[in-house]
Amino acid sequence: MLVVGNWKMHTDFRGAVRLASEVIRLTETDTRAVGVGVCPPFVWLEAVREATRSSRVALGAQNGHPAENGAFTGEVAMSMLGALGCRFVIVGHSERRQVFGEDDAFVGEKVGAAMGQGLVPILCVGETLDERDAGQAEAVVQRQLDGALESVTLDSAESLVVAYEPVWAIGTGRTASPEQAQAMHAFIRARLAARFGDDGRAVVLLYGGSVKPNNAADLFAQPDLDGGLIGGASLDAESFAAIVRAAAQQTEP
Ligand code: PEP
Repeated sequence: MLVVGNWKMHTDFRGAVRLASEVIRLTETDTRAVGVGVCPPFVWLEAVREATRSSRVALGAQNGHPAENGAFTGEVAMSMLGALGCRFVIVGHSERRQVFGEDDAFVGEKVGAAMGQGLVPILCVGETLDERDAGQAEAVVQRQLDGALESVTLDSAESLVVAYEPVWAIGTGRTASPEQAQAMHAFIRARLAARFGDDGRAVVLLYGGSVKPNNAADLFAQPDLDGGLIGGASLDAESFAAIVRAAAQQTEP
């Protein structure tokens, strides 16, 4: 199981260091079998790296540019994220797709560039409410997956994480039901297996979209959910730790 916090454009310098330290303290015991990651804003990555240095909390970035370097004002290269100690980088988040107009091909370039730098891309996919209501949820997710993974070679199952994040559930307080999430995760797993064989089948699949301490256990109990990508609730260390504990329950024999 893996639980990753996406802090988005929240926290200030002190708050970011404090939040990271609290996450370490609150997840130190009882949750050892769960991987934990935090994705602060770029500008706090170094401070959070220091705060998490001797802990098992992994560092992730919320975005990265596929080019190695160049005239891309305001962007940050994957190699720079690697140099800062990042293990993960979120790519294709729906806010990047919707607000910044990123398409599947660009997201695919990011996946390849991240892997090329030894980072693990957390590839986000998910349909809008209109698309779900029109019965197109699977077709949309399939297009996003295939588009982003078209030129990717998977070295091992650990080189990729996929997060299913229905857009209608992000930051809305409206969560996909465990059955809805499970159905899409099974679909994604089958696509990854068809594309990459056993390694594809073993890729960690996170669910994201209003995961909270009170719904995490039911979601994580589904067989194809391997953890969560957590937005709002990751900004509160107690809530985030409770979600990590819910994941830990799934790892108990
Ligand atoms: C997210 O933005 O990745 C997310 C899952 O947000 P929230 O948990 O707030 O819905």
